[in-house]
Amino acid sequence: MLNTQDAPSLNLDLPSQLEAAAPASDESAAQDKKVSREINKLSKRLHRQVGQAIVDYNMIENGDKVMVCLSGGKDSYSLLDILLNMQKRAPIQFDIVAVNLDQKQPGFPEHVLPEYLKSRGIPFHIEEQDTYSIVKRLVPEGKTTCSLCSRLRRGNLYRVASELGATKIALGHHRDDIIVTLLLNMFFGARMKGMPPKLVSDSGEHVVIRPLAYVAEPDLVRWAAHREFPIIPCNLCGSQENLQRVQVKAMINEWEKKYPGRIENMFTAMGNIVPSHMMDRDLFPFQTIKADGKPDANGDIAFDEDEACSTPQASASPSVISIHRQET
Ligand code: SF4
Repeated sequence: MLNTQDAPSLNLDLPSQLEAAAPASDESAAQDKKVSREINKLSKRLHRQVGQAIVDYNMIENGDKVMVCLSGGKDSYSLLDILLNMQKRAPIQFDIVAVNLDQKQPGFPEHVLPEYLKSRGIPFHIEEQDTYSIVKRLVPEGKTTCSLCSRLRRGNLYRVASELGATKIALGHHRDDIIVTLLLNMFFGARMKGMPPKLVSDSGEHVVIRPLAYVAEPDLVRWAAHREFPIIPCNLCGSQENLQRVQVKAMINEWEKKYPGRIENMFTAMGNIVPSHMMDRDLFPFQTIKADGKPDANGDIAFDEDEACSTPQASASPSVISIHRQET
């Protein structure tokens, strides 16, 4: 397992123009210093959060071969970048291979990823599969293509993972993806189901990990800009981003503006479930419980509200959320 103690001390080989640029004046030198400080903080936070998630869920073990799925978006570039930094400093040995599935979408700039990966000396595999044509052929015009497209993508990536001998498949989903997925499932699927940090694939053959699970999306936006990743636009297939997902994202961002800290608390709540206070009969034996005369702080408090509910401005207990909260 990785040791999180290592995360803050990672040597990040920080680029470049920020530190290299000669200050034109005292003012710009001060500005450069400030930017550099902010980037250092961001870097430490990202590496610490990824290290913490890896440890908390035992995502990477000695001897693992981690297949990082690289789409060309900010999240997967950041994931690869951070894992490579951690690999250099980790007390365990693990391999990384970047894999991109070239789905043959029109206009896909196929030179971009190989050029980037070669320039950094990263082992990689580009899998060319024309799933775009299959989707276009099978899905009637006007119908949403994402479901078939992602099913095909998943199948191909699982197959490639087996062919490469990968023991873990790492995806670039982050904290905000996890919360939005939970809310989408509640609003439109009538179930409480998020996106797990680590789970065996539906094929039963692979372990899928999400090392960015604790990372906030705005931090990835900043990291990608700082590292100048050659981002590939994600609208090449011509499909609109899932409208419900866009709306839920806008909604939680609005809540966050009005009541800062809510996204963090929602996220933390996903790891603090009290089955006796939900309604799932498979998770708690409601039908057979009996009073046994022993006081229980988690028992029913009748008409009283939970303290946290009656003080909506307050954040959750600092001890609960400390590892997720961004330091300033
Ligand atoms: S947005 Fe396009 S590439 Fe992405 S899953 Fe949907 S159809 Fe596939």
